Amino acid sequence: MNANNNEATALRRESRLVGRSSDEEPGAKTMIFSQNEIPTQLVSNRSSDFRNRFFPLTTTDSWNDWKWQLRNSITSIDELKKIMKLSEKEIMAINNLKGRLPMRITPYFASLIYNTGFSHPLRRNVIPVVEELLHTRTEQSDPLHENSYSPVKGIVHRYPDRVLFTVTQVCSNYCRYCTRSHSVGKLDKLGRSDYEKAFNYIADHKEVRDVLISGGDPLTLTDEALDYILYNIRKIEHVEIIRIGTRIPVVLPQRITDNLTGILKKYHPLFISLHFSHPAEITPECAEACTKLADNGFPLGSQTVLLKGINDNVPVMKDLMHKLLKIRVRPYYLYQCDLIPGSGHFRTTVRKGLEIIKGLRGYTSGYAIPTFVIDAPGGGGKIPLLPDYVVEHNNERIILRNYKGVLCEYPEK
Ligand code: SF4
Repeated sequence: MNANNNEATALRRESRLVGRSSDEEPGAKTMIFSQNEIPTQLVSNRSSDFRNRFFPLTTTDSWNDWKWQLRNSITSIDELKKIMKLSEKEIMAINNLKGRLPMRITPYFASLIYNTGFSHPLRRNVIPVVEELLHTRTEQSDPLHENSYSPVKGIVHRYPDRVLFTVTQVCSNYCRYCTRSHSVGKLDKLGRSDYEKAFNYIADHKEVRDVLISGGDPLTLTDEALDYILYNIRKIEHVEIIRIGTRIPVVLPQRITDNLTGILKKYHPLFISLHFSHPAEITPECAEACTKLADNGFPLGSQTVLLKGINDNVPVMKDLMHKLLKIRVRPYYLYQCDLIPGSGHFRTTVRKGLEIIKGLRGYTSGYAIPTFVIDAPGGGGKIPLLPDYVVEHNNERIILRNYKGVLCEYPEK
């Protein structure tokens, strides 16, 4: 492979790809786009109904083209009003987003929310409400202090043997509770020399055996850009595993094309960390995308943020975890919501998270139970939390309480 050619093509094409405004408004009469790659994917009845209603002259091929989905993402209140009735709280919030995390919703994801009530869990994920404008004393724009752990642009080196590499600030949908809301959605792109500095940093730090490629959402980049990034990381001998953190199968499943998986699988062992927040996200399209990833050998894990009114109870969380396992995604972390500005309406108590873990452990398969963590404010890293199962522990014995409340003893000698 010629890395230089690859790199030039990748950067040229990337600049044409992301962050473009909508070129077909919902309800517009006509618009069919040329495409390099049209995957044959299933379209659920719900998506078909939505497309027929709001994009009547858009073909199935265009709908299934991830670039069409990105180009036609809903980013303004006028576009959103054409497909759904908004509450006063939503209108006020969207009109006051200047300088804050932008709003962006793919047509595919819009098809999941356009006829929902104001408090629908998926709707709350992407449509801001006025509470987002309220900031409290404990909230910070960079609660995990990622900036102070960043030796070169794009790299966060917090833990001894691994780094985070934020390769883009663009996502196809912006989650209203995003930890990186201070940086994502901004036009702060990595240039060619930034990428080179990041690769050099990883190459110079022999202790780095694991690189997490994140963002923004890395899978909003072109295939060529991803190939270039992965090629340059994989050729560093001491890097053992590469991970990609993405929400794409949930918000833009059309992106998981055969061409993409063909590129990604050149760089095994490659893990994919997904991000789910509610069982209703697991649609036929999403399941198909995850199946394609699993069939190509990528171990899939899921991270979920605990969100008030969205997933903060045992039945919803259990349903989500079970549905994830059915599509071969292993629940990995359940996060206490980070203290980002305007997140008060999303945050639950820590006690609520412990209650949910207690309601899962013993009542369902261990595989269905994520590790509940707080990503410590100030950059302390992830700290796991467990319900209190230890009743007494000394040099002689440990007394434990099982999931039914029954006491059990295990000798230390
Ligand atoms: S996809 Fe990830 S990076 Fe993008 S807005 Fe959502 S949480 Fe933030």
